[in-house]
Amino acid sequence: MEPWDWRYLQEKRRLAEFDLDEGEIKPYFGLERMIEAAFYTATRLFGIGFTPRPDIPLYHPDARAWEVLDADGKPIALFIGDYYARPSKRSGAWMSSFRDQQKLDGERLPVVVNVMNFAKAPEGRQSLLSFDDARTLFHEFGHGLHGMLSDVTYPLLSGTAVTRDFVEFPSQLYEHWMQQPELLRRFALHQDTGEAMPDALLQRLLAARNHNQGFASVEYTASALVDLDLHDAANESPVDVVAFERSALERLGMPHGIIMRHRTPHFAHVFSGDGYSAAYYSYMWSEVLDADGFDAFLEAGDIFDPATAARLHDHVYAAGNTTDALAAYRAFRGRDPSPDALLRKRGLAA
Ligand SMILES: [Zn+2]
Repeated sequence: MEPWDWRYLQEKRRLAEFDLDEGEIKPYFGLERMIEAAFYTATRLFGIGFTPRPDIPLYHPDARAWEVLDADGKPIALFIGDYYARPSKRSGAWMSSFRDQQKLDGERLPVVVNVMNFAKAPEGRQSLLSFDDARTLFHEFGHGLHGMLSDVTYPLLSGTAVTRDFVEFPSQLYEHWMQQPELLRRFALHQDTGEAMPDALLQRLLAARNHNQGFASVEYTASALVDLDLHDAANESPVDVVAFERSALERLGMPHGIIMRHRTPHFAHVFSGDGYSAAYYSYMWSEVLDADGFDAFLEAGDIFDPATAARLHDHVYAAGNTTDALAAYRAFRGRDPSPDALLRKRGLAA
C-alpha cells in the first residue's frame, strides 16, 4: 500500500463498517438537553448549581447568562453561553473570560463565556447538534469550569492560565462524561418522541470513534517527534530539513504506507511562533492525561465518584497555575500519568 492509497481505502472501510447517518443521530442531540447534560455533570461532580439570569443585560440577544452557585447557594461565577452562529461572529468554538477569578484586589468572581457556532433552529424548535458538536460543547464547558471553579489569589495564576500541555486536560477530560452511556441514555432523547437513543445506534456511534485510530496516531506522532528532534538540533544549523526529516523517520521506523500529518517545510504550526515550537506533542499528551484521568472514575466504579471528583476539583479545576502541572496531576491521580488508557480509548491496546 502506498501513502496515497490510504485515505481512499480508509473511506471505503469506514462506509462498510461504521456508516453513520447524521440525520439519524442529530434528533437525539438537542442543544438545550446537551446544555442541561453539561450542567448536570458539573452538579454531580462538583456540587454546583446553575440559575438562569435572563434579567442580566448582555451584549447580544442570543447570549444567555446563568449564575453559578456552590453547594451552600453562594454565587461563585457568572456563566454566559453564546451558542448560535451569526454573521458578525468568528467561526469555531472557544471559551473566554470577561473577568478572571482572583482575591488579590478583594474577591472577584469570574465571568466566563462559551462561544459556539451552532445553527439556530426555527422558532419553537431546539437546535440539533452532531455528536462532535455535542462533544465540543462539553469541551468548552470543561475550559469554562477551569475558569469558574478557580480559587486562587493572584490573577496571573487564575483558571486556565496554565502551561500549554496542561490547559487541554480539564476540557478534554470533560468530554468523557458526554460520551458515557449513563449520560446519553438520560439526555440524548429524540426531540419528537422523547425516547432515548436505541442501544444498537449508541453502540455503533461509540464504536465508530475507533475507526482509523492507528493511522491517526502514527501520522500525528511522527510530526510530534520530528518537531522535538528539530528543536533539539537547533544548534546544529543550518539544517537540511528534507534530509533531517528522512533520517528522523528512518530512526522511528515510520511505516511505508503513512506519511507525517505535517511535512516539515509547511509545518507552520510549530515554526510560525514560539507557542507550539517543540510543543506539537501537547495535543496527545493532553489526551494521555484525559484518558488516564477519566480512568480514575472508572476504577472507582462510579463516573461521579465523590472522592475522585473532590481531588479533581481541588488539584485541577480550582488550582489554576498555583502548582506544577505534573505535581497537580499526581495529587489528583495518586501517581504519574500512564499511556495505557489512551491506547484503550483509541482501540489500540493489545
Ligand atoms: Zn480546548
